[in-house]
Amino acid sequence: MVDDAELKHLRRCVELATEALEAGDEPFGSVLVGADGTVLAEDRNRVASGDRTRHPEFELARWSTAHMKPGERAAATVYTSGEHCPMCAAAHGWVGLGRIVYVASSAQLASWLAELGVSAPPVRTLPIHQVAPGVMVEGPIPGLADEARALHRRFHRPNG
Ligand SMILES: [Zn+2]
Repeated sequence: MVDDAELKHLRRCVELATEALEAGDEPFGSVLVGADGTVLAEDRNRVASGDRTRHPEFELARWSTAHMKPGERAAATVYTSGEHCPMCAAAHGWVGLGRIVYVASSAQLASWLAELGVSAPPVRTLPIHQVAPGVMVEGPIPGLADEARALHRRFHRPNG
């Protein structure tokens, strides 16, 4: 179950995704929260730089190894606007981060992009548990997923 405090983190992820969109990037955003509910780090997608690996979940996984002890990582939660891709799910699993809560699933995103006529990505879409089976995962979050969908539509159809 996702409570009000968690919804706030998820809303922040959608805000960060909106910032990414407004900076010309694909709309994704993520927040890393410690066991006590403190926001430790956040980031948005930065693949428009030309480096297609600069997903926010990957950046947060790297950040966590520099700033957190293993026990702190395991007790932390990563909130994110879109379910981790296989690269980010692997990074999350390798660094030993804890639970993931996502707004929209990879399956939802794939169907939205297919509807918009966007060609398939070069990396296969997989649910997180197929990549990192030990990670607790929650999502999607129905009301917010509609907002995420609208952001992806704006990115791929800027003229409506
Ligand atoms: Zn990713």
